[in-house]
Amino acid sequence: MSDLTKCVLTPDVPTDGFTPLAVGVHRASTIVFKDAAAYTSRGERGHEGYPYGLYGTPTTRTLEAKLTSLEGGAWTFLTPSGQAANALAVLPFLGGGDHILIADTAYPPMRDLAESDLRRLGVDVEFFDPRSPEDVAARMRKSTRLVWCESPGSTTMEILDLPRIAAIAHEHGALVGVDNTWATPLNFKPLEHGADIVTEALTKFVSGHSDVLMGSITVRDAALIKPIRALIGRMGIGVSPDDASLVLRGFETLGVRLRHSERVALDFARRIEGHPLVARVLHPALDSFPDHGLWKRDFLGSSGVFSIVFTRAASSHVAASLDALKVFAIGASWGGTRSLAAPMSIAGFRSATAWSGPDVILRISIGLEDERELWDDVERVLAAVEAKSSAAASEASLKPARLG
Ligand SMILES: *Cc1c(COP(=O)(O)O)cnc(C)c1O
Repeated sequence: MSDLTKCVLTPDVPTDGFTPLAVGVHRASTIVFKDAAAYTSRGERGHEGYPYGLYGTPTTRTLEAKLTSLEGGAWTFLTPSGQAANALAVLPFLGGGDHILIADTAYPPMRDLAESDLRRLGVDVEFFDPRSPEDVAARMRKSTRLVWCESPGSTTMEILDLPRIAAIAHEHGALVGVDNTWATPLNFKPLEHGADIVTEALTKFVSGHSDVLMGSITVRDAALIKPIRALIGRMGIGVSPDDASLVLRGFETLGVRLRHSERVALDFARRIEGHPLVARVLHPALDSFPDHGLWKRDFLGSSGVFSIVFTRAASSHVAASLDALKVFAIGASWGGTRSLAAPMSIAGFRSATAWSGPDVILRISIGLEDERELWDDVERVLAAVEAKSSAAASEASLKPARLG
């Protein structure tokens, strides 16, 4: 064999006795076959086989297997982001004339997908009150193919009665999908509570280091594997094994990170709840939270993300008061090692329900920094909101009364 050929070919080296703890990164577009017959029949390798790089490598298969096991499903697909997982979980099952029901508190890009693309494809899109299974029942049609849930609701944290909603949907022959990003499979297992499909934004807590985007779709029933796999393939969607390796590395510490964030977030939520400028703290593990009973019944724990609703007068000062933060960063995509704060606008993302709170609420994600330094930051923000609120109040009282 000439040197030029040797440069190109991969020599066989023994792998016997090489048993690493870490998952290898297998980069591959091309998969080769032992003979022409094996190549010709590659399409028959099925979802567990390796016909082409797009359909997975041992690295991505390992991550899929981990998720399948934790979710209690039949199979898992990886997607390039959490939102891609949501989109690819619904698209295979919808066509012109079909009807989809979506929780009013779903992740806003999911609303956008439904209102833009699903409607353009001729799908009837309707939103439902996440706290009312009766509303789901009333809106079911013969053409309803899917009920899309997210529990707790994005930012406002409403807990859905998933077993009841799933029973209603199944009675009408519709599938139930759940975006489980807040809870992760450690805190909630939607497939055990009636869902057919569960998605995760692995970008958040599961990868956990704010350096990779990925999503997953896990199905309970093997009959759902084929339609999803086929559409993902036709659209040419796959994930990089390097990214999958980052998610696998983060996954190993998910348990300790999540339990830490859970403890600190709940402690902060309880302390913030008593503040005079705070109207409500939206955290399902608080006794005061309206859906606390449902959360306790179905969930195995809580997570590090919650929201603060300030009084109406104070809420207009919240965004500017974030300048006082020294340790928290301001940004979206929570679930990493850094704690985050983000002013969130709600009213524009509701149609089946009315948002009665102030337009801006504060979403908090607790990371892994020293909790006393984080609490000092919370106090700085609360003090800034208080100072700005009382300055505004005294200015208003100094204004001369308007005549006529
Ligand atoms: C962030 C998020 C997503 C989207 O994840 P990306 O990977 O950023 O696309 C989906 N659902 C929920 C509930 C999220 O918070």
